[in-house]
Amino acid sequence: MYQIDEALEKKEILRRYKLLFKLFKREISQEEHDQIHKAFTLAVTAHEHTRRKSGEPYIYHPLEVAHIVVEEIGLGPTAVVCALLHDVVEDTEYTLTDIENGFGPVVARIVDGLTKIDAIFNQNQSFSIQAENFKKLLFSLSDDVRVILIKLADRLHNMRTLDSMPRDKQLKIASETINIYAPLAHRLGLFTIKSELEDLSLKYTEPETYAFVSEKIRQSEAERESLINNFIAPIREKLETECMKFSISGRVKSICSILGKMKKKGVPFEEVYDLFAIRIVLDSPVETEKADCYRVYAIINSIYRAKPDRLRDWIAIPKPNGYEALHTTVMSNTGKWIEVQIRSKRMDEIAERGYAAHWRYKNEGFDTEMESGLDIWLNKIKEMLEHSASDNSLSFLNDFRQNFFNGEIYLYTPTGELKSLPAGSSVLDFAFLIHSEIGFTVIGAKVNHKLVPINHKLKNGDQVELICSKTQKPNEEWLDYVISSRAKSRIRQWLREEQAKYYDQGMEALKKMLDELHVPFTDANINRVQEAFSRKNKSELFYAVALEKIAEKDIAALFKDDNEKHDNWFWSWFRRSGGNDKDKPETNLQDAIQAQVENKPESLLLAKDVHNLNYIIPECCNPIPGDDVIGVILPNKGIEVHRTNCPKAIELMSQYGNRIVKAKWKKNEKIGLLTGIKISGIDEPGMALQILDKINQDSQINIRSINMKAAEGVYEGQIMLYINNTSHLKELIDRIKTVNGVESVKRIDHR
Ligand code: MN
Repeated sequence: MYQIDEALEKKEILRRYKLLFKLFKREISQEEHDQIHKAFTLAVTAHEHTRRKSGEPYIYHPLEVAHIVVEEIGLGPTAVVCALLHDVVEDTEYTLTDIENGFGPVVARIVDGLTKIDAIFNQNQSFSIQAENFKKLLFSLSDDVRVILIKLADRLHNMRTLDSMPRDKQLKIASETINIYAPLAHRLGLFTIKSELEDLSLKYTEPETYAFVSEKIRQSEAERESLINNFIAPIREKLETECMKFSISGRVKSICSILGKMKKKGVPFEEVYDLFAIRIVLDSPVETEKADCYRVYAIINSIYRAKPDRLRDWIAIPKPNGYEALHTTVMSNTGKWIEVQIRSKRMDEIAERGYAAHWRYKNEGFDTEMESGLDIWLNKIKEMLEHSASDNSLSFLNDFRQNFFNGEIYLYTPTGELKSLPAGSSVLDFAFLIHSEIGFTVIGAKVNHKLVPINHKLKNGDQVELICSKTQKPNEEWLDYVISSRAKSRIRQWLREEQAKYYDQGMEALKKMLDELHVPFTDANINRVQEAFSRKNKSELFYAVALEKIAEKDIAALFKDDNEKHDNWFWSWFRRSGGNDKDKPETNLQDAIQAQVENKPESLLLAKDVHNLNYIIPECCNPIPGDDVIGVILPNKGIEVHRTNCPKAIELMSQYGNRIVKAKWKKNEKIGLLTGIKISGIDEPGMALQILDKINQDSQINIRSINMKAAEGVYEGQIMLYINNTSHLKELIDRIKTVNGVESVKRIDHR
């Protein structure tokens, strides 16, 4: 337990405050000093009566965040002022106007950004809202990068002090960290912070694994130390005779990356060969740093034998997040492969502390000219935000991951220009990257001089020569060929415009067909065709009809089926008699799930097919086709499918953050899933009967249970039904609303 001793606390607050100034690597001006002092005084006063969950004075937190901001990210005095004030507006009586009056518009804007992010993340949120929040978070990036950097410092300190939080909070915060903040830190090139965030998350999400690996690292320390020293000795000697200024050390990799290697290669801890890496940091001037790095590389290879094809040259082509270094793997005298990283002091700063450190090399502060690498990155994010259109946020998050967190591949144009795309991109993605017009007209490509189709997946280092034809036209299938958000949004836009052109023509054609079948041209019937042929909306349907992609005879067959209800009768009988297909035991369910987990599925296809049925539909939110759903992979159980707004799902997500798969319904499947509606109104004679009639009008709906009561003239009913999809449900709800007396009909969201 934390013991409160106010005199001691005052001393400690002052100690932490003074330490702040020692962390700056440069002299700060009197004016800057005064600003920091003012911010500190305000923060101390504002948080005076609050304590953290641990019992400590609240002010420790902003002070620690300020330390991180200077020491570990390398930001300047303005950011320190903001870090000290970052929780003031949210948690205390002080307003943004107070901040603006005291510290000016720049500080106020940053504090405002930080407060808004917090507000968003503190709401009780669903996954899609979280994704939406994330989008907002990124918007703030384009205003002032310091907002996101300070936010990362804030998160880092919260992760470091997560012990005092209740378990459920720990899991929620840890899963957010692993899903959002660690990848973001990675993209910003804050490697040290990224690793620490990942390790801390693991500590709370998988405590046993974490303890196991850290114990192993501790146990093997002595042996590793002697190995490193023996390995380093001859290198040190040779570099000294060459009169090079350098430092050399051996560093154990992060727990997460070691664990990742164990899992990926399926080997025990003892067999992870690159448990640690030797790092040589050269004290070279910028003019000769590259040449010096290559020279050290040559020297090392004169001492140890290098593993073929294991030279990673990120000096010639830096990583997208700005990382520069040479990595080589060599055979040590003990018969073990050892990785050696070679970089200059400047490169090392960037690698450890990201762009902020880099800017510090150039000049103090962000307000002046930015480095081109970050510019490119920010522009990519902006472009993506602009192009993510009105698609739902979940797909946005997916796109984002796809584009930014997964690996990237480098490709060459025929003239040798370097381009980068997300791993898994196709020729078509490449074409849209070059230019939209080229994307629309590409018919194939020569990849490394071999002819390939447009859906051909590109590999790192491919040289791509595009072949275009003026007669080419995009089609819906193209959406399956591309993964980059730019290509996707351009194709979608093209399709939308194209569909608009055929709207009237398609509508006329469909009307004619239905007239001939003596089927009325009503919304309900149009919907029916739309669903039967898996079209998302009328535009898509009319377009397909206009281009004769839907045959007249198939439409005729659809309405002819009206009188043949065997299938429907069978399934409802099957369900009522307890033969619920989803309960059918799956003998090797475990294997199926394992395979699913290992494949890291992008999406889970929900279908009736029993053999694919490794999912469980729980009765808490009763998802039906058409709902936005996610799957959560539960160890030893299966995949639970929830609606994205289900509270249970949110709970599971924070618990199994890395086991969430995006799920979608297989189109046009008649699954017949349980859902419920709640009806209320004024009790009228015969009302219940009328409601049942409305339900029975749709032969595809089966009632499971009815619960009705009427008291003091008020009617309340709860009906559970088996239904195919959301549009069926919507139609039903609309029909029931027409019953005399009914005032509201609502779907029961969860129980
Ligand atoms: Mn905070």
